[in-house]
Amino acid sequence: KGPDPAIPIITQRLSTIKKKILILSGKGGVGKSTFTTNLSFALSLDEKVNVGLMDVDICGPSLPRMTGLDGEQIHSSNSGWSPVYVTDNLSVMSIGFMLQNPDEAIIWRGPKKNGLIKQFLKDVDWGELDFLIVDTPPGTSDEHLSVVQYLKESGIDGAVVITTPQEVSLQDVRKEINFCKKVGVPILGVVENMSGFVCPKCNKETLIFFPDSGGAEKMAKEMEVPFLGSIPIDRRIATSSDLGESFLDQYPNSIAYNSYMHVIAEI
Ligand code: ADP
Repeated sequence: KGPDPAIPIITQRLSTIKKKILILSGKGGVGKSTFTTNLSFALSLDEKVNVGLMDVDICGPSLPRMTGLDGEQIHSSNSGWSPVYVTDNLSVMSIGFMLQNPDEAIIWRGPKKNGLIKQFLKDVDWGELDFLIVDTPPGTSDEHLSVVQYLKESGIDGAVVITTPQEVSLQDVRKEINFCKKVGVPILGVVENMSGFVCPKCNKETLIFFPDSGGAEKMAKEMEVPFLGSIPIDRRIATSSDLGESFLDQYPNSIAYNSYMHVIAEI
């Protein structure tokens, strides 16, 4: 089998984008999409920075809801599919926009799924962007990893890996980092999400999983990849994202806000 003819087309399409970052997680439910959304909101706080957010988590697209764009439709023009705008400098593309019923589960077979991802990469007209943030499906199956490799061949710059502190999540992340190393995707760093709990009454953080926490940092050190920082559990993060609002706009200077800003400054 020769090289995929779509790759040069995709590389050309993505050439108007300065930095292309994948967001990976070994397991589902660790907060990957929430992080992706907040990272995009944070980068777009500077009005001069143009940010695109692409949801290729086609089994459970949650970005339309998290960005407050539920029910929006995408439009096609001569130059391709146009993403939907949250603000003038933040645009989103998700399979969620193509579904009639947002509750409809999409269970497609591998080739069909990969076909759709390819089509997204080829046909979305992002225009000039400073950042494209790509939310990928969770998992470490061959099919999932092949998507990562495909994105790499299409010109992705690097990956940020999200994990929770528990060993079951870290285990999958090790596998994912090894795969990235094998296919040459640079790991920009590891983020530990839900590292502790911020009490809404006293605003202090309690480390609930490990008495001394730090599981992800230790793993990152062992695997010789950068550790970008930890984000606590704060119920306002979940509420804001359920409502499609920006946590960072609403709760500046909270512990979680400062954690996000610390992590994002490292990327
Ligand atoms: P994934 O994309 O990894 O499947 P999600 O981003 O959908 O995970 O997050 C799973 C759930 O956890 C969501 O309800 C989300 O609002 C919540 N969540 C994620 N990160 C945090 C956090 N730091 N604090 C509180 N809730 C969080």
